[in-house]
Amino acid sequence: MGFFNWVFVIFVLNFFSSKPAFSGSSSSTSIGLSGIPDRFLQFAKKPELFDWMVGIRREIHENPELGFEEFETSKLIRAELDKMGVRYKYPVAVTGVIGFVGTGGPPFVAIRADMDALSMQEMVEWEHKSRNPGKMHACGHDAHVAMLLGAAKILQEHREELKGTVVLVFQPAEEGRGGAMKMIDAGVLENVNAIFGLHVAPNLPVGEVHSRAGPIGAGSGFFEAVISGKGGHAAIPQHSVDPILAASNVIVSLQHLVSREADPLDPQVVTVAKFQGGGAFNVIPDSVTIGGTFRAFSRESFMQLRLRIEEVITGQAAVQRCNATVDFFTQDKPFFPPTINHEGLHEHFLNVAGDMLGTHKVKDLKPLTGSEDFAFYQEVVPGYFFLLGMENKTRGRLESSHSPYFQINEDSFPYGAALHASLAARYLHEFQPEVSFSDTKHHDEL
Ligand SMILES: [Zn+2]
Ligand SMILES: [Zn+2]
Repeated sequence: MGFFNWVFVIFVLNFFSSKPAFSGSSSSTSIGLSGIPDRFLQFAKKPELFDWMVGIRREIHENPELGFEEFETSKLIRAELDKMGVRYKYPVAVTGVIGFVGTGGPPFVAIRADMDALSMQEMVEWEHKSRNPGKMHACGHDAHVAMLLGAAKILQEHREELKGTVVLVFQPAEEGRGGAMKMIDAGVLENVNAIFGLHVAPNLPVGEVHSRAGPIGAGSGFFEAVISGKGGHAAIPQHSVDPILAASNVIVSLQHLVSREADPLDPQVVTVAKFQGGGAFNVIPDSVTIGGTFRAFSRESFMQLRLRIEEVITGQAAVQRCNATVDFFTQDKPFFPPTINHEGLHEHFLNVAGDMLGTHKVKDLKPLTGSEDFAFYQEVVPGYFFLLGMENKTRGRLESSHSPYFQINEDSFPYGAALHASLAARYLHEFQPEVSFSDTKHHDEL
């Protein structure tokens, strides 16, 4: 994938970026590279920008829309981009929007926000509560859109400083519907050199960011199996083929995949979360349906689990004379790959976030068994994903995402917007392949 070249270029250019930027014949228009994060953060904290982001987030929060139905959210995004004078493409993957800020030429760096809500009822009583029954922004994607628009504003205001093009990716349907895949199919990553994304984190302090190089989120898939036998009277089992017993043994055998076949140092999960069959005390049913999820941190482990889940279900069902069919729903719920952060971009993130927040606020993240469809982008181009803290202990604990009591600490917005903008702007300065090679030669003697 040409990653080695990138790592090399990254190394060389990080070296330059750590040098004082205002050396020699700097004029008033010179750009302090290391100063970008702080300048952008100060800009994002201005009441005009902060209040505007909060307003957008609350408007989206009141009108949550599910995956591929984000028509009003998308309209709002386009209206704001129009006001800013930012060019964009629409529609992309049904409701998606792709904006462009900067020179219009290479290099291209993308920053991404997801737009969809969840099908659940909001239980928080507040002025901007969801007006759509059974739908709620309980994962913070309303905040993600507001912060990406904030980044667009910062970048547009500083467009003269950009050494390439920032691609703003407003993506539909993150929650299990494969919106990222559709965006990629629509060409969103064409010519893009790298992509950055973030997620709000209710349990991490506001003003902190957490991430790491390598895997941070698991690959995830779903399965459902129908185990069929022959129904009959519960008192004369010899005339039936009992799918309840077969399904029970299938579940026990599935639990041996992680405990006996997986490397204990390679975390994996198999959970059977659904068991449906029978309806009477005295009737053996014809069939039982079971279903669940499986997770792993590498594509190889994930595909091995998938293979063995199918083999164990059909093989173990056959032991009890049952037939089984297994469905992995790849049409409606595509497998999410593991979220794997690029090594070189991790260095870039540490530099930029460290300059903005102080290195003590940039912390190592333990991998999570959750999954995120940002991983699809990372399979195509170098990508980096991080968590943005929201917790303010003096205001009490925030509920976890996907809770009906989920709330956002809007004080995190300036950090998210400024990080998006700074990661992109500094990337364009530091990752210029043509510049890098001549500079590399030039600085060889160093
Ligand atoms: Zn979610
Ligand atoms: Zn989410």
